[in-house]
Amino acid sequence: MKLIETITIDQDQINRLVAQAKPAPPVSGAEKEELTRRIKRLLKEKNAVLVAHYYTDDDLQILADATGGCVSDSLEMARFGHAHAAGTVVVAGVRFMGETAKILNPEKRVLMPSLEAECSLDLSCRADVFKAFCDAHPDRTVVVYANTSAEVKARADWVVTSSIATRIVRHLHDKGEKIIWAPDRYLGDYIQKVTGADMLLWPGYCVVHDAFKADELRSLRRRYPEAAVLVHPESPMDVIDQADVVGSTTQLIKAVTELDNDMFIVATDLGIFHKMKEAAPGKRFMEAPTGGTGASCLSCAHCPWMAMNGLAGLARALETGDNEVHVDPELGKRAMVPVKRMLDFAEKLKIKATGDANIVSPA
Ligand code: SF4
Repeated sequence: MKLIETITIDQDQINRLVAQAKPAPPVSGAEKEELTRRIKRLLKEKNAVLVAHYYTDDDLQILADATGGCVSDSLEMARFGHAHAAGTVVVAGVRFMGETAKILNPEKRVLMPSLEAECSLDLSCRADVFKAFCDAHPDRTVVVYANTSAEVKARADWVVTSSIATRIVRHLHDKGEKIIWAPDRYLGDYIQKVTGADMLLWPGYCVVHDAFKADELRSLRRRYPEAAVLVHPESPMDVIDQADVVGSTTQLIKAVTELDNDMFIVATDLGIFHKMKEAAPGKRFMEAPTGGTGASCLSCAHCPWMAMNGLAGLARALETGDNEVHVDPELGKRAMVPVKRMLDFAEKLKIKATGDANIVSPA
């Protein structure tokens, strides 16, 4: 892995923020009914639409679907909000997702149940450090993952999602371009291996996917040889190496309907099981192991920041208008340029950047 050696991640700070992330308080059955009723009424009154990420809790995903919103990955959430007539988009997810929604929808109000929901990838890529590094390597094309701040996006040549990243990097590599990739080291390493591109990799990683353990996964596969292994490419390479399918969230959900297997071992956030069960009722799903020897699981397969999204916070945001996401309009315009570049590229290939690209098999 060709990590950028001069960049260090403040892992202590990330660990502190993980420890501070308070999951949304559980609600009783009666409270849930009351909150759901209230939110449905508020969405109508405020001309708002709810978009939720696959990693949020079932209650939010069910509510988004039931109220004409959507459940998807970060880019499709933003695009859905853009195409929808509602003047307010409520984003259940983490902060960079709210920002991306605002970048694509500067004229709309974007609200979130919590503005404190971080992402370890976003945190690992401080804009000032990133810009300085890019400025020092002007011969390289800058490609960043969607899990970054508006400021980092604004410095990039391309913003990519995991669905389309490999195709875009291969396209750049074919043109002879050398790349700075940020912030996910594992996804960058995977793409580098698949494409052979010259890539300098930012050393960030996702605290959820980093926790999957290769040895324990091998044992689990021996116990359930009939199970297909589905892996998100933010996972370590020794986990990816064991995958039957490597893909983005949307691609992994698609895989459970396309593969004949009745059982799946899944290496991504467990929030995804809601949509997988819906897509393939009757099939069985297991989390890939995060425990075992040397385990220091910060997340145990559920993003601590996604878990901050809850019904009560959502109702409060709609009622009060608090937790509005703001992106400086000029910055938003600059960040939109590399996002638009990706969307145009996807349009040319007639694929969606969010998951209609072919499922990626291990290299
Ligand atoms: S699951 Fe990982 S990549 Fe996704 S929001 Fe959480 S920390 Fe970020």
